[in-house]
Amino acid sequence: MARDYYDTLGVDRGADDATIKKAFRRLARELHPDVNAHDPEAEEKFKEAAAAYEVLSDPERRKLYDAYGEDGLRGRGYAPDMDAFGSVSDLFSAFFGAGGFDAAFGAGGRRGRPAGGIQGGDVVVAAAIDLADSARGTRVEVSYEAAAPCPTCNGNGAEPGTPIVTCPRCQGTGQHQRVARTAFGQLVRTAVCDQCEGEGRIPETPCHECEGAGMVGERRHVAVDIPPGIADGQRIRLTRRGHAGQQGGPPGDLYVVVRVREDERFLRDGEDLVTVIDVPAPLAALGTTVQVPTFDGDVPLEIPAGTQPGETIVMRGRGLPPLSRGRTGDLRVVVNVAIPRRLTREQRSLLEEFAATVTDDNLRSDEGMLAKLKRVLAG
Ligand SMILES: [Zn+2]
Ligand SMILES: [Zn+2]
Repeated sequence: MARDYYDTLGVDRGADDATIKKAFRRLARELHPDVNAHDPEAEEKFKEAAAAYEVLSDPERRKLYDAYGEDGLRGRGYAPDMDAFGSVSDLFSAFFGAGGFDAAFGAGGRRGRPAGGIQGGDVVVAAAIDLADSARGTRVEVSYEAAAPCPTCNGNGAEPGTPIVTCPRCQGTGQHQRVARTAFGQLVRTAVCDQCEGEGRIPETPCHECEGAGMVGERRHVAVDIPPGIADGQRIRLTRRGHAGQQGGPPGDLYVVVRVREDERFLRDGEDLVTVIDVPAPLAALGTTVQVPTFDGDVPLEIPAGTQPGETIVMRGRGLPPLSRGRTGDLRVVVNVAIPRRLTREQRSLLEEFAATVTDDNLRSDEGMLAKLKRVLAG
């Protein structure tokens, strides 16, 4: 059974953006690997929640999903692919920024305060283009949510006009001692303070807009130039367009995963394109000119007399441009010799008359039996 994104997040179909966001943050808090080190299912569940959130937090994707389900998303190249993130911690950074999750949820894990701050997490979005656009190159607009400094508190997490004070839990040291009872007796561990995340200072009154995290989700629209020759699944990296960094750190990067929609007319084989043209058997015998589709419109192609089924005619340079260097690919036209069906009485008698004249010489080919077999098997 198909997953239902609303069920995954535990919200109604009519839920507003704030409710969806809240539900996702609640699930993320429950499923974080630091909390669930012993639950292998938590990682899978978090991926599902992230996929649901990625769709339902984007108005365009949500509308598609409501109308057509996951198939609708897939058709537009929007099906969420959480495995593209690699590890589950990459996935968390993608949604909450490096350290942003900890700041937002107090789950621990930040190690002190590195010089230069903490870089923001990367964001991955998908963009779907037509095969014709991948031949010419194009520009698309992607929209995504990224962590940005909270405009209300300017990122310091304090309600405007209220002070930032020494953390009462760790007295400003950023660390505290944790006593664990184990089979070997009591173990004392020094841990990063879970109240101030090791900073030693916390806002006295957390900012109402970001709940003290200093970060808010911000929807961004970015125009992305897609170079000619790009293939399905390739990524474009836009530096510093990801989640905001923390403590003066630089932002993360934006990765645009390009999905190239299939084109009914062509199969792609590297830089080459392959297409199939039907030629009626009598015309293949006589020779003819056919129109072949290309991205610059139909172009005429001469089919020599005696062209055999499955023969390929190469149109040089009519394929896709190379992404970096090399030569432009070819268009390989496979000739499908079509045998006429449902003959009229007149056609039948004409063919019978013709068939009676066929000699061995008409069927003799210049290639040997083995070459012919190889060609047929390769086709
Ligand atoms: Zn704030
Ligand atoms: Zn503290």
